[in-house]
Amino acid sequence: MTSSTHSSDLDQPKEECGVVGISANSDAARMAFFGLYALQHRGQEAAGIAASDGQVVRLHKDQGLVSQAFGSGKLDPLVGGLAIGHTRYSTTGANSERNVQPYVVETMHGPLGVAHNGNLVNTDQLRSKLLERGAGLQSSSDSEVIALMLAASEGDTWEERLANVMPQWTGAFSLVVISATKVIAARDPWGFRPLSMGRLPSGGHAVASETGALQTLGCDQIREIEPGEIVVLQGQLTRSHRVVEPKNEQARCTFEHIYFSRPDAVWDGLSVHQARQRLGEELAREHPVDADVVIPVPDSSTPAAIGYAATSGIVYNEGFVKNRYIGRTFIEPTDELRRQGVKLKFNMLEENIRGKRVIVIDDSIVRGTTSGPLIRMVRDAGATEVHMRVTCPPIAHPCFFGVDMGTTDELIAAQLGVAEIGAHIGADSLGFLSVERMMKALGRDDGYCNACFTGSYPVPVQLSLAPKQRFDGVLG
Ligand code: AMP
Repeated sequence: MTSSTHSSDLDQPKEECGVVGISANSDAARMAFFGLYALQHRGQEAAGIAASDGQVVRLHKDQGLVSQAFGSGKLDPLVGGLAIGHTRYSTTGANSERNVQPYVVETMHGPLGVAHNGNLVNTDQLRSKLLERGAGLQSSSDSEVIALMLAASEGDTWEERLANVMPQWTGAFSLVVISATKVIAARDPWGFRPLSMGRLPSGGHAVASETGALQTLGCDQIREIEPGEIVVLQGQLTRSHRVVEPKNEQARCTFEHIYFSRPDAVWDGLSVHQARQRLGEELAREHPVDADVVIPVPDSSTPAAIGYAATSGIVYNEGFVKNRYIGRTFIEPTDELRRQGVKLKFNMLEENIRGKRVIVIDDSIVRGTTSGPLIRMVRDAGATEVHMRVTCPPIAHPCFFGVDMGTTDELIAAQLGVAEIGAHIGADSLGFLSVERMMKALGRDDGYCNACFTGSYPVPVQLSLAPKQRFDGVLG
């Protein structure tokens, strides 16, 4: 288990992450463990579970994958029918021990545990208010602020206290809370990050960041928790309250469709796999090119490559074989390590490539360090031409709401135009899907946050309130 007490600028939490909450007859922690396993792709740095037997909340959390954090015997002490769990995304160069979740505190109303996915943009203000009122803060984590605000809030029950403080939180939060006797789930009124619930085969209920985790647990009656809604899970019962009106301008994260969610997720009522396939279809219409074969960068781009191939009439095949036991190269601390990571992660199926004009489909270009080595590998495998097609627009603006895109300085599209990026990565041609085509593929006119593409943020945010490492101006 980890804890720490100092803070630094490097220690900004970057809350992508996955969350689960369980109310069952018994053994909720084990179900939370399986739920977290299904959400492993949302966070590979650390994992934690807090469980309650109706009186005592017990916690275990540690660095590493879910299977590493919960090695032999670690679940056994976490007895009881209530549990929340969290899997935390990797950060670059940050001392992140103190930000491992769930965050559990003793309060005058009994024990309270909090885990969340997302990022509040007014944490600094909220922290200052807490400090003025004499609260001691240990970490830079939003979860601690959320827990301490809840503990100090007016109200007779935890849901009343949550309803009282929730309107003060600006930004993205898909939240699970555990007390001695209940689990509560809540989603911000913009609906930035996903959160769904379902009924367990045992009759209890589960909430999870993605519907795939609920399927893993055998849930039926799966539905999205609405923006601004809180749901209380207690025994076999659930109670739902609309505590904050959903914002007129909803702001679901488009990047969940593009890259972040598993393809078996249903997000905003859409199958992510099918959405990705349609992104590929639109990409083929917007950026056609003569070629012999379409290959995906596995795994997130596979459905889009299928869509691109179907619409263009060009053969789909696999070109990269991915070693699935290597973590995301994106998280390595230096560009050089990231470049080496690409080679460690992929081998080429040369016989599918040699002598061919190849279209490579990737979900996104962020820092631009991966695409160059990928294209080089395709050329080394004997491709005569390499055309790169990307299923989203250029990412030129950092994310405030829970996806670690890097800083403006790091985003290649903030520095270079499309033609320059193409030259930089060594592609014969490069095409990004436009915002309009992307939304067409999703079948939605609005309701999404596209700030990383457009710079138009759904919530006004200022430099002084933003993660300090990332921004250099006022955004609004
Ligand atoms: P790069 O352009 O080198 O920064 O890497 C982009 C690749 O990293 C994309 O093709 C995605 O597969 C993956 N990726 C995109 N966004 C993220 C993110 N927020 N965290 C981790 N990996 C990402």
